[in-house]
Amino acid sequence: MGHIVKKTPRLDIDINTESKNIVVIQRWKYNWIVNGFADWNYKEKQKIHESFEKEMNKVWNRRTQLKVTGNSLFAKKYKNDTFRLFFDIKWVLTNEHWSVDVVKVASNNYNNRPFVNWNIRHIKLYTVDIQSMFKVGAPINVSQKNIAHEFGHAIGNSSSIAGMHADEYNTASPFNSDKVSIMNVGMELRIRHFDYILGEIDAMLTNTKFSLSL
Ligand SMILES: [Zn+2]
Repeated sequence: MGHIVKKTPRLDIDINTESKNIVVIQRWKYNWIVNGFADWNYKEKQKIHESFEKEMNKVWNRRTQLKVTGNSLFAKKYKNDTFRLFFDIKWVLTNEHWSVDVVKVASNNYNNRPFVNWNIRHIKLYTVDIQSMFKVGAPINVSQKNIAHEFGHAIGNSSSIAGMHADEYNTASPFNSDKVSIMNVGMELRIRHFDYILGEIDAMLTNTKFSLSL
């Protein structure tokens, strides 16, 4: 069987039936914004891309296990297997899922708010977004790296998607008290943070349902 692949405007999904890895791929095309600093050189570009990948990887990868149930041949064949979910950010120059502004700022300048605009597939990040920072309303000792939180928006934790949930630090969020959550002001994953991805994976195969545990 090998690979079952799905392409969407914001991410691609590759189920590898041999390794039992499910890889969610996002192609990012960067727009390098100098913001009054020196021009971006290749080394700086490479370094920030690698840092984005590394910080995303630390939070989102190797943490989840997926099991499959259902009446499909696929579900029956793999019912005893455990699938693993990985995310991959690919730096591309064309054919991007996301257009990503990366803005140079001073290393102690935390005044800017990064964001993900789901509808137009645009992300805005700052060079400090790989650093730990204490967010408004965070309990003592709870910090966050913005890149890992923003990545959460880019994989479907977005208020632009009907029925989805997004920023949990909003007082209206039912998860507002869960401060250590990555979509709140901390760094911890919750099963709900995979709701959109799981829905996309489930839609790849009829009569097949994946469930995820942390
Ligand atoms: Zn947010």
